[in-house]
Amino acid sequence: MQQLFEKALGLVPPWKVTRSESDPKAQRLDLFLDFERGARFRCPACGAEGCPVHDTEDEEWRHLNFMQYPLYLHARVPRVRCEKDGVRQIDLPWARPGSGFSHLFEAFVMTLAAEMPVKAIADLLGEHDTRIWRVVHFHVERARAREDFSKVRHVGVDETSRRRGQRYASLLCDLERARLLFATPGKDGGAFGRFKDDLVAHRGEPAQLVELCMDMSPAYVSGATEHFAGVPITFDRYHLMQDLNFALDQVRRSEQASRALPARHLWSRRRRTQLPTLKKSRYLWLRNPAKLSDRQRAEVERLSAVHDRTGRSYRIELAFQELYTQCPEEAEAYPRRWYAWAIRSRLIPIVEFARTVKQLWDGVLRCFTSKVSDGILEAIGSLVQAAKRRARGYRTTENLIVIASLVAGKLDLATHTSWRGAPISQDPTGRL
Ligand SMILES: [Zn+2]
Repeated sequence: MQQLFEKALGLVPPWKVTRSESDPKAQRLDLFLDFERGARFRCPACGAEGCPVHDTEDEEWRHLNFMQYPLYLHARVPRVRCEKDGVRQIDLPWARPGSGFSHLFEAFVMTLAAEMPVKAIADLLGEHDTRIWRVVHFHVERARAREDFSKVRHVGVDETSRRRGQRYASLLCDLERARLLFATPGKDGGAFGRFKDDLVAHRGEPAQLVELCMDMSPAYVSGATEHFAGVPITFDRYHLMQDLNFALDQVRRSEQASRALPARHLWSRRRRTQLPTLKKSRYLWLRNPAKLSDRQRAEVERLSAVHDRTGRSYRIELAFQELYTQCPEEAEAYPRRWYAWAIRSRLIPIVEFARTVKQLWDGVLRCFTSKVSDGILEAIGSLVQAAKRRARGYRTTENLIVIASLVAGKLDLATHTSWRGAPISQDPTGRL
């Protein structure tokens, strides 16, 4: 039985299983490991072989379940005395220092964490979620530390909130490799400064960037200009449409509100109930018209006829969308015609949007020359959004950031090789 466990655990001398205890009442299985008397170990700092044991300390680790029972490993962990480095705790083949879990248990946790909320993992495994969070943070941060950003050229920034209506974080993405590079609390210009430091720390070169893709918020624009001077800014379609949709919705709300008041005096109750209402029509206006059904399109036309301001905003928005289908010859003239129309519309949110577009004209027009697909920022955003929805938000921004890196960072976690794989079979760590 002991030998079977040794095989299953991949233990090599001097480590061996000395006994096992199963307690059906406590629903757990305990395995006691020990090393052979007089064993010598490798120094974890300099790699010198054959260091004598200085002292030991008893520790416990949770391992993968054995059948339906949680399995716990117990061992006295030796500290060795190295001639060069003094007294050091050795590297264990089955667990990393300071973790109460085995490598394989942690690998299992990380596999689950990409798919399900940490709270659900904690409940499933019967552990407190702060312990699970610690494992997730450790592996994501270790994997991030190994990342190489030296080939990054096209960067896009998007924002996300911890929960609905709560504090923001900025997500900085590599648009060519479609992955999250860096996430940081706040939606401010400082996000670009922190990103620059992180980029340099991962062998990236700020001067090599050829594009920054983002929304028109003043904080981002000034942050990008300050920290990445000379790198052209592109305002991508996804963000511009988001802003324009927001403006249209403001027009719709105010028109709906203004209709409700005078109605009492002007129209009879009968007449009023017949008037089509803008209430609950938000979805119709914001959706791509190509995706509307015939019935929905008829409804939009009917509402536009009655609600002049919303109807006009809608047509201005459709015309703006057309910007992206223009041939290169129209690339200058068409946006100017659109601007002239929008700025004279007397629809305040639309006029404000048009004014910002005019101010940042070059960046808006760069969508014609930029080769990078704006669908990538949207795709990364939706990965993070889906994780957030599964978890029903996060308690801290740090937790949001670590999960964003896990689901969208394309990290090489390499948790599976750390015990049964290379380290133990290739080097003689822990042998006599
Ligand atoms: Zn040493």
